[in-house]
Amino acid sequence: MPGFELFGPEEKKEVNDVLDTGIYMRYGFDGPRKGIWKSKELEAAISRTLGCNYTQLVSSGTAALTTALAALGIGAGDEVIMPTFTFVASFEVILSVGAVPVLVDVDDTLTMNPEAVRKAITPKTKCVMPVHMCGAMADLDPLAAICKEHNLILLEDACQSFGAKYKGKYLGTIGHAGTFSFDFVKTITCAEGGGIVTNSEDLYTKFDGYSDHGHDHKGVDRGADLHPFIGYNFRISELHAAVGLAQIRKLETFLSIQKKNYNALKAILSTVPEVSFRTIPDPSGDSNTFLCWFLPTEEITRSVVAELKAQGVLPGNFYWFDNNWHYIRKWDHLRQATTLNRLNEAQEKGLRALDGADFSASDAIMSRAICTAISLAWSEEQLKEKGEKIVAAIKKSL
Ligand SMILES: *Cc1c(COP(=O)(O)O)cnc(C)c1O
Repeated sequence: MPGFELFGPEEKKEVNDVLDTGIYMRYGFDGPRKGIWKSKELEAAISRTLGCNYTQLVSSGTAALTTALAALGIGAGDEVIMPTFTFVASFEVILSVGAVPVLVDVDDTLTMNPEAVRKAITPKTKCVMPVHMCGAMADLDPLAAICKEHNLILLEDACQSFGAKYKGKYLGTIGHAGTFSFDFVKTITCAEGGGIVTNSEDLYTKFDGYSDHGHDHKGVDRGADLHPFIGYNFRISELHAAVGLAQIRKLETFLSIQKKNYNALKAILSTVPEVSFRTIPDPSGDSNTFLCWFLPTEEITRSVVAELKAQGVLPGNFYWFDNNWHYIRKWDHLRQATTLNRLNEAQEKGLRALDGADFSASDAIMSRAICTAISLAWSEEQLKEKGEKIVAAIKKSL
């Protein structure tokens, strides 16, 4: 799953190129940097790999989402539809631009249910933000159709799914914009970093300015740049981009190891008839970072989790239903609007509506789901042992 498992001399070489010039910043210093532009090089490599027109690197996936929302014109009082199963960054970024997060149920794809999205649309809805969780895709065709019908923006959070595809197109490149995280545990990593992709020149120009205080980057003198709008500092450093540049060159290797390990583990778990698997709208496009599987009931699932823990093999097997960071059930701070600064009225109202809202359809799925992280570092024997221990834990619980 995470690219850091296969760090090597390639990452060191790229970082050393930057250390040798002493220019760790991505903008300016054209002379002393001696032709070393790691951020620009990584942006070009991402656009080339994904087949999109523009990529903007930023300091994190969270910064990527914030920048995307701002550039798409989403702000005070606008409603953004997001799933109940994601990472806390989803609602953080919506709140950060003054908008209101509207949560909808997930189905057995572990991503937003298009019918739930349809029901959540109001005159205030501006954007639908599917999250391609655990390396695989939301069902984008029906989501794109809903957005088209209601004239809504489709923003793909592909932070966990770099390199995955839907019907031949890379995730992130299908909506109006798409975002990636290159934090330490993602498919490829910059240590910390993020990216936004789009085919729109206008959006790209906004990403570029917004992530650097509004600088228009038109001249060679940074101090003389104009600021056509207000921005922030979400810049990536050259050192981080250098790590990512070495990593993206290994993407195909990572994906092929993941596919092999995923298929091998799935074959082992498939021997238990009571186990079913996550629905993947386009299985051939899965980046295979996780194998997600279901048990018949919550009770059996809890028993398997306890058994995995007792055997010392729980790490790497995620029961998101009990997880503090990824599922609505443990987001008391969101439901109770526990913020440091004051929210606007629409946001307060939106979060109050969330408290007590019925997400039993999501609970029915998430309470029975376990996702096993696919390691790049497993040997064949380790994988077999892991699979057999999981099967034993299941059989003991049935
Ligand atoms: C990791 C992640 C983010 C945030 O990325 P950071 O780089 O950690 O800020 C956002 N959304 C999802 C779905 C993620 O998994």
